[in-house]
Amino acid sequence: MIALAKRLRWRVLVGLGMVLCHSAAAFAADYYDLHPQQIAADTYVFYGAQENFSFDNHGAIANTGFIVTDAGVIVIDTGPSRLYGRAMRAAIARVTDRPIAQVYITHAHPDHFLGNNAFEDVPIATLAGTIDQIKRIGPDLASNLYNLVGPAMRGTTARAPDQVVADGDTVVFGRHRLSLIGMRGHTGADLMVLDRTTGVLFAGDIAFYQRAATTPNADIARWEQSLAAAEQLDFRYLVPGHGPVTEDGAPLLQTAAYLNWLVSHFEAAAAVGRSEAEVLYDRLPPRWARLAVEPSEYQRSVSHLYPAIEQRSLSAPRAEGGAAAGS
Ligand SMILES: [Zn+2]
Repeated sequence: MIALAKRLRWRVLVGLGMVLCHSAAAFAADYYDLHPQQIAADTYVFYGAQENFSFDNHGAIANTGFIVTDAGVIVIDTGPSRLYGRAMRAAIARVTDRPIAQVYITHAHPDHFLGNNAFEDVPIATLAGTIDQIKRIGPDLASNLYNLVGPAMRGTTARAPDQVVADGDTVVFGRHRLSLIGMRGHTGADLMVLDRTTGVLFAGDIAFYQRAATTPNADIARWEQSLAAAEQLDFRYLVPGHGPVTEDGAPLLQTAAYLNWLVSHFEAAAAVGRSEAEVLYDRLPPRWARLAVEPSEYQRSVSHLYPAIEQRSLSAPRAEGGAAAGS
């Protein structure tokens, strides 16, 4: 009799657990219907929408990914919210029954790390600079995203990673040997993960493809150096932070060309004394007008970059010819 009661109670608990699990998954699925695309052996990507943050896309605008190894699953970036992270885990569980072993976060932008809440039982690692930035500006980034994205953000907080990695670290999971590469320029600290076993380079937002680069925390000169360094890496597939995966360095070249154009355009405008308001509505050349999220990303870059370039131009010593003409 006691055994029967115990068995019944167990069944009720299991049943209740299944209902709770199911409703959590269904709730996440209301916001995120995630389907991974396999891009190489053991390696999958969840493509983000090539769009601005919106209520419609629930903030899922960045690429995230995972590698299935004999030592567990490695996750690269956790997306914009707790529910996105949960949907990732549900989708990963449909591919493999291996547990999640490790999460790496590429950088401190909200579309890439705010899903950390869904991975509280897993070590989450990134560069030291990224942890500092998330601790400093993470709560503001999260509350901003609540405004832009709405209810899909429910339960999301800016959870900082708890493990530090450094440029040059090598880690091995099963047969996969990963190089962790510290870059900078898109933000103050940008991590790339290069799987030496498959040749897949998770480049984070150092590389954008067919979508305009975002520049709120950019140091363009350092970013250009990072792009040049990334071109020298031995990869076979490149996963940009935003845009399609390629089998060449096209996202690196396109990002470098766009940043170069952006700065040259701003410097030329500043040299002839054009104001920020004037530059804001410039027509983009067709090559760049075609990129996703233009012209709004260009206009944001005007506010991020133009004031400093204008200031430099104003304080630069006047050309010899100009001084002579005045005398
Ligand atoms: Zn991003």
